[in-house]
Order: sequence, then structure tokens, then C-alpha cells
Amino acid sequence: MSRYSPQLRFPNVCAKCLALSPAKSWRVSGATSGLTILLRVRTTNYSLDVPVCEECQAALRRAYNISLIVGIGFFILFTWMGSSMLASPYPVDEISIGIAAIVSYFLVSLIIYPVAVNVTGAKIGKISGTPPKVSFNNQEYDTLYKAINPFG
Ligand SMILES: [Zn+2]
Repeated sequence: MSRYSPQLRFPNVCAKCLALSPAKSWRVSGATSGLTILLRVRTTNYSLDVPVCEECQAALRRAYNISLIVGIGFFILFTWMGSSMLASPYPVDEISIGIAAIVSYFLVSLIIYPVAVNVTGAKIGKISGTPPKVSFNNQEYDTLYKAINPFG
């Protein structure tokens, strides 16, 4: 995980509700991928701690925890469903649980968890594109941010 450009400046308001002088922070992350000279895909992960107010940080934490619980719940459900399907008509064994767990892990981490994070609102923005750019869900904050970081 590389840290996104440290020279960035933030407006003196909460990135979620625009309350003045935010005292806490919340992590915005994202990944960019590109082809290297050897035509291999290289993915770089970025993260950036953005100022938010205390109330928003508490709400974001709750939303994040819910997303995590949803992710774990689906992981257990898919692993259980997958292993019974693979093992049928034989009894569930370690190999079918193992295969089902690996498949569930990818399903959950690539689809279920990212969707849960968006649905619960545990996300205030993202980093994407080449070169990487930050964008915020709060349009007003996004405008303020871009005004003081024209190249960020
Ligand atoms: Zn706030």
C-alpha cells in the first residue's frame, strides 16, 4: 500500500458532512493497474487519510463494521453451500471445504464486501485512474478539494 501524495492539502471541513475543523480522519483507498514493459499487469494500491469530524468517523466505523460482518456472513454461507454441493452425494470433507472456502473468499472480497461498503456508506471517496486521482462522494467537498489541489 503506497501512501498517496503527501503534499495534498485538505479543506478545513469534514469530508462527509462539511462540519468545520474536523478532528478525526478516515481512510480513502483505491488501486490503479497498468501494463508494465513486459506486458504484465501491475496493480498499485493507494491510501489517503482524509479529515472527518468525530460524529462522522463514529458513523463510518459502524458502517464499516456492518460491511465486515456481512462479508464474513457470506463467506461462511458460501463455504457451507459450496462444500455441500462439491461433496454431494458424499459427506463433506476437508478438500471440498477448502475449495469452497477459496472460491468464497474471492467472491466475497471482490463482490460482496465492496458492495456492502457502498451500501452501508462506509466509503467517503475513492482513488482511481492513471495517474491516480482522489474523488469524494460529497460533491461540495470534492469541489473544495479540487480547488486547492488542482493536480491532486
Ligand atoms: Zn462530519
